[in-house]
Amino acid sequence: MSLNLTVQQVFSWSLQLSAQQDYQALTHKFLGVLTDIPWVDSATAYEIYNHEKKEPGEAATVHELLIRKFPLNFTRNDEEDHNTLLTEIDHTIDLNLGAPDQSGLYAWAIFSIKGCGGPERAIHLEGAFNQEMLDLLSHLRGIYRNLVILHDTKERDVLTKLPNRQSLDTRLLQVCEHYSDYQIIDKLEEKSSWIAILDIDHFKRVNDDFGHLYGDEVLLTFSQLMGKCFRYNDFLFRFGGEEFVVILNLASQETAVTVFNRFREEVANYNFPTVGRVTVSVGLTHVDGISMPTTQLDHADKALYYAKDNGRNRVVLYEDMALVQDNNASEIELF
Ligand code: GH3
Ligand code: MG
Ligand code: MG
Repeated sequence: MSLNLTVQQVFSWSLQLSAQQDYQALTHKFLGVLTDIPWVDSATAYEIYNHEKKEPGEAATVHELLIRKFPLNFTRNDEEDHNTLLTEIDHTIDLNLGAPDQSGLYAWAIFSIKGCGGPERAIHLEGAFNQEMLDLLSHLRGIYRNLVILHDTKERDVLTKLPNRQSLDTRLLQVCEHYSDYQIIDKLEEKSSWIAILDIDHFKRVNDDFGHLYGDEVLLTFSQLMGKCFRYNDFLFRFGGEEFVVILNLASQETAVTVFNRFREEVANYNFPTVGRVTVSVGLTHVDGISMPTTQLDHADKALYYAKDNGRNRVVLYEDMALVQDNNASEIELF
């Protein structure tokens, strides 16, 4: 099969890709463009995180690849769907290919997209590719990569590389819309989503005592601890300053509280270089499928302030707090 490309076709692709407003829309469009090519049978995108993990009691750090298929389905645990090809390929090169058949055609190709602001990305293509086709795909990858760099710059925080406040707004809207279509009946039992604001305690003192450079170092280390503690299907953000947000997915209430307490303890026990001990307060609320995203964030914020007012270095669940306040209110009515 020959390429049979017209100039119009190539311009049309460039226009379609450059018209996309964010990384998610761009990647959806890119996969659409690729699968519209007659000799491409399938196209799948992945995000690859090089994850450092230290098991309790183990001295050595294990490097493992965390692979997230695009788009991440936060309502289903599909870890086992991950393409084993991706863990086995050579990550130091830009293009991995299967063995060619007798006519010199390759049945699969994996293009790496590295050096952007976020994680490494990979595009896995299946079809029948000759060298000319691979060259064309390589050019398309180049355009996609340039656009990913632009979107990462806009959507991620420069210091921690975590998605920023703007990305949180988009993602939280998606999560809230999902749960308004699919109502959770029993949040204690069912696996659902939780939103938490994490605010480092007395962070101003870190800056005052050690300087902003060490303050920044704490923020970076803190974001890396988040990356290690939460799962591949949770969403992490830098909200601003020393505040971070986690959307925890596929968790019951008990799990959510346990996970955030485990992270809180992890931070409290961590020896931050030069600065030493740092603690974090967490305000947590259930994504209820009724409240607007801004209301959900406000609930998490109220729980956070309750944690700050009650000694810091603690996790407060808004729903528990609301219960306490309801009880107080009914007592006031009674007497
Ligand atoms: P609390 O326990 O009540 O949260 O006290 P706090 O000192 O952490 O809270 P406050 O909001 O008063 O201070 C936050 C400080 O965070 C103030 C600001 O100097 C610092 N900060 C915000 N963004 C950055 C940043 O990007 N880098 C550094 N180094 N400091 C930052
Ligand atoms: Mg703050
Ligand atoms: Mg603070």
